[in-house]
Amino acid sequence: MKERYDVVIVGAGNAAFSAAHAAVERVRKVLMLEKAPREWAGGNSYFTAGAIRTTYDGLQDLRPILDNLTGDQAAATELDPYTREDFMADMERVTERRCDKELTEILVNDAADTTRWLHEKGLRFRLMYDRQSFEVAGKRRFWGGLVLGTVGGGQGLIEQHTSAAEKSGVKVRYDSPVVSLLQEEDGMVTGVVCKGRGGREEIRAGAVVLAGGGFEADPRMRAAYLGPQWDLAKVRGTPYNTGEVLRMALEAGAQPYGNWSGCHAIAWDAAAPPTGDRELTNLLSKQSYPLGIVVNRDTQRFLDEGADFRNYTYAKYGAEILRQPRALAYQLFDAKTEPLLRQDEYTAPRVSRYEASTVRELAEKLGLSVDALEQTVDEFNSAVQPGAFNPAIKDGKHTEGIHPPKSNWALPLDKPPFYGFAVTCGITFTFGGVRVDAAARVLDRAGAPIPGLYAAGELVGGLFYHNYPGGSGLMAGAVFGRRAGAKATEGVVR
Ligand SMILES: Cc1cc2nc3c(=O)[nH]c(=O)nc-3n(C[C@H](O)[C@H](O)[C@H](O)COP(=O)(O)OP(=O)(O)OC[C@H]3O[C@@H](n4cnc5c(N)ncnc54)[C@H](O)[C@@H]3O)c2cc1C
Repeated sequence: MKERYDVVIVGAGNAAFSAAHAAVERVRKVLMLEKAPREWAGGNSYFTAGAIRTTYDGLQDLRPILDNLTGDQAAATELDPYTREDFMADMERVTERRCDKELTEILVNDAADTTRWLHEKGLRFRLMYDRQSFEVAGKRRFWGGLVLGTVGGGQGLIEQHTSAAEKSGVKVRYDSPVVSLLQEEDGMVTGVVCKGRGGREEIRAGAVVLAGGGFEADPRMRAAYLGPQWDLAKVRGTPYNTGEVLRMALEAGAQPYGNWSGCHAIAWDAAAPPTGDRELTNLLSKQSYPLGIVVNRDTQRFLDEGADFRNYTYAKYGAEILRQPRALAYQLFDAKTEPLLRQDEYTAPRVSRYEASTVRELAEKLGLSVDALEQTVDEFNSAVQPGAFNPAIKDGKHTEGIHPPKSNWALPLDKPPFYGFAVTCGITFTFGGVRVDAAARVLDRAGAPIPGLYAAGELVGGLFYHNYPGGSGLMAGAVFGRRAGAKATEGVVR
């Protein structure tokens, strides 16, 4: 007689582990099935910076869950509260008010409690001084509503999740791709079919939680749903999120939901490999563009680098880069702004970094038209308006008379040396998915729950449209993973 599990979870990223922790609080036999080999453990979650968007009243509110924050550090830190209303307003603004109201309220309302719960499970948090603050008048001032990260980034996140799961008796099986769902005549999902090294195996369970990621690593699905050219984007994370878990859910009757033609995609090093680099992980991101200007191969600017804090523009600017000739762009800075760049990203090994003592020389090194780049920089410099530059606030220091404008942090590029970084589009994850209800139950096309089937993480649709507030992916996976894991145990006969 084959072993039967209380809950089977498909995938072993952040959403799956969150489901596992919640399930094993209530039932004993919890199994995670992960397609990737152990060396590729952690899905996209491994590649993250571990940045996680949560709500808080101020530094005092966060202190109980912070690792190693000294009194001196705390005294030198300026951090405004980030409330549920702020989080909700950010979600509504960046998704152009399309985000599902019920799901977004759950995300926003559960964020703080879920963060504390993750901490109780063994996840370790820190303030992201390096990524999310600038020094202003002797203080570290945080910006953009995102302050918390896991200790050790995505790697730390997955190590901490894995050790918490192992301690509580959750089984994790790698090299175990799930290829279909077991479903009764009445629609009840009763398990999965897994096709690992040992061959095809039917695994029965009281309930199944799907947390197998989106379709970002499948070029054919990208071209089919996101549109022409998307097959050419580089994949920032795991090569294993190829959409088959989504397809299985749809075949079982799940309702497609959310922004199927939309995704999270950013400025990514032009020389990056086609899929994620386990060593450099997120360091191939190039996210300091609000401090400089961005031009394409024709030396034209094509986006407002200072439209908002990076956290609210970066996820949609990858698509803008993909539309440019040869899907390439160049981020340009000078000696005034170079020290403010995120040094981890801009000085990482193998980065496409160029330095020159004049703009003309920089153009030559980047393979751009020398006269044309000089003209673009001159025009930009002349358009910069007076005002005080402050990277920690939206300083309103802007350009006038050029298109597109630069709305904040506009400084002329005039102090040598000059720096150029070649970037392309790196896709992070896809926004389209299946529809779930407040209990993370997968809904069918008529809006009724498919019995025994739950979902969390990237493969849930309805939260993100067009754009995304940084750090929300991990939080959404944790909030809905926790719900899915808990609710999945309710029908289980022990
Ligand atoms: C470079 C990078 C940096 C990022 N930085 C951040 C950040 O700092 N903060 C943030 O909030 N978000 C960030 N994100 C987004 C974040 O990674 C995702 O939102 C989140 O990790 C998704 O979690 P998940 O559990 O749904 O998916 P994943 O972590 O990708 O897990 C899905 C798992 O399912 C497995 N799987 C797929 N198919 C099958 C199958 N057939 N059978 C079994 N298993 C299967 C995959 O192998 C994978 O391990 C980043 C992403 C990348 C790529």
